[in-house]
Amino acid sequence: MNELIRSAPLPLVIASGNPGKLREFTALLGAAGSGLNLDVRPQPPGLEVEETGDSFAANARLKAEAVARLTGQWALADDSGLSVDALGGAPGIHSARYADSDGERIARLLRELAGCGDRRARFTAVLALADPSGHTLLEVEGVCEGLILEQPRGAGGFGYDPVFLVPEVGLTFAEMQLDEKRRLGHRGRAFEALLPKMATLFPCSPA
Ligand code: IMP
Repeated sequence: MNELIRSAPLPLVIASGNPGKLREFTALLGAAGSGLNLDVRPQPPGLEVEETGDSFAANARLKAEAVARLTGQWALADDSGLSVDALGGAPGIHSARYADSDGERIARLLRELAGCGDRRARFTAVLALADPSGHTLLEVEGVCEGLILEQPRGAGGFGYDPVFLVPEVGLTFAEMQLDEKRRLGHRGRAFEALLPKMATLFPCSPA
């Protein structure tokens, strides 16, 4: 039985060195109404887990399990990326390594899509939760469909946000408030799928 009945906040390490992701996760898990009594912590500084998996899910599991084993705490990892139809799904699991900086990643993407009429793309996020012994107990996926613009728009967010348009609201991720990106975005959708599963795994004791 994996259920943990407790009243003290449960330490949960976010297995990511990406400050943009950390911000989004802290907002998602700390939100009033998440109903989870968690003490959300960043992973130890300087830690890099090599992403040798061949899918978002394999890489999310690798990161969660490595950080859980290293810290001896529950760890939540996300592996995410942008898949562009006209580029055969690239950059996909290589989204972070597509170029050296966010600006260069966007420039390369726009260069590769220059003159291309098919701008369809999607963001995918897989979340994996590992227990302190390094076994993945939960895994969920969220997807957000969109279009790649020809020019960046908006000043918020991170990564490819300024060129990713969500047609149903006519805004790029970089033009959205955090709560709107949470509602529509891949990570928010994955999180919505994760939350009820975490609530089952970590029931809080009644006050
Ligand atoms: P990883 O999951 O750490 O391998 O990194 C995924 C990469 O995909 C990030 O470094 C970003 O370049 C990109 N990415 C993932 N999620 C988002 C997002 O919400 N907005 C913009 N770019 C993202």
